[in-house]
Amino acid sequence: MSTLIYCWQCGHLNPGNAVHCASCGALLVRPPGLADGAGPRPQARPVGTTRRTLGKIVKVASTIVWLVVGLVSMILDLWMLSYEWGLQGVIGGLILGPVTFIAVPLYVFFNRGAWVLLAFSYGGALLGALLMGLASALAPEE
Ligand SMILES: [Zn+2]
Repeated sequence: MSTLIYCWQCGHLNPGNAVHCASCGALLVRPPGLADGAGPRPQARPVGTTRRTLGKIVKVASTIVWLVVGLVSMILDLWMLSYEWGLQGVIGGLILGPVTFIAVPLYVFFNRGAWVLLAFSYGGALLGALLMGLASALAPEE
């Protein structure tokens, strides 16, 4: 049973003594030192396909997390700015852009003692970053 060999081209499982793939006719390549077909199974199929797929799923998840957290944070930030400074605050927040994301949760936390926005914005960004890191660890960019 240990003498089976995978076709590097189509993945067909061939008898260990086969020279050409029974399915696609490709020349079967054995790793050096495994000419007899004994020992560990030759890695003829693309390695880590499941892992790459998982990496892609995690990457999509991280994008969704960032989009949702970013959108909700923006709405909450602008709502907070309008509550504090009215229309001027909203316009200022839009002009400052990314600074708003960072500054408003901190402002709300230190001036109002409300940690929810801070935890949500920063925690969400951190979660997105962690997922993105996990995604590139699972499926490195080619
Ligand atoms: Zn084949």
